[in-house]
Amino acid sequence: MPAKTIAARLLAVIDDDVLPLTERGVAAGNKVFGAAILRKSDLSLVVAGTNDETDNPLLHGEINTLNQFYELTDRPPTSELVFLTTHEPCTLCMSAITWAGFDNYYYFYSHEDSRDSFAIPHDLVILKELFGLEPGGYRRSNAFWTAYALADLVESEDEPLRSELRAQTSRIKERYAALSDRYQESKGDNDIPLS
Ligand SMILES: [Zn+2]
Repeated sequence: MPAKTIAARLLAVIDDDVLPLTERGVAAGNKVFGAAILRKSDLSLVVAGTNDETDNPLLHGEINTLNQFYELTDRPPTSELVFLTTHEPCTLCMSAITWAGFDNYYYFYSHEDSRDSFAIPHDLVILKELFGLEPGGYRRSNAFWTAYALADLVESEDEPLRSELRAQTSRIKERYAALSDRYQESKGDNDIPLS
């Protein structure tokens, strides 16, 4: 059997490793955002995490995952790692990924999806208010890293894998839609500043 492509592997990690954590996190009143770190060499999982803003509003999915990564005693250098995030990072998290030394990140949903499908517009509002940038106006390829949309990687696969990954993408989106509804119902009860 051929090695899994990176698109197939990253979708599997969202399905199997990130979403179970996020389902528990949302049940506790947290947002739907999650992340994972994998080795470039064999795409094995190093750590997965999810948003914990009810504990601390800085604990976005990516930050919480990075904090857990730095608690590991035996961790690979970030130059050897892939950073996966379920949603295109906010400016806090893309800076954290930069400071940690990653040369990449891969995202499942875009900023626009976070606004339109999740009713969480803060990433785009911060880009506009702090930096004067329109949606997508930041540099997805720069001196530090390149950002990849998982949807683009899925579309670049050959058949029959492309159709399989499109179907898996749809199933993952259904799980997130249910989690988003649950978060929106509960968020009136939390004291997260930008809920
Ligand atoms: Zn963030």
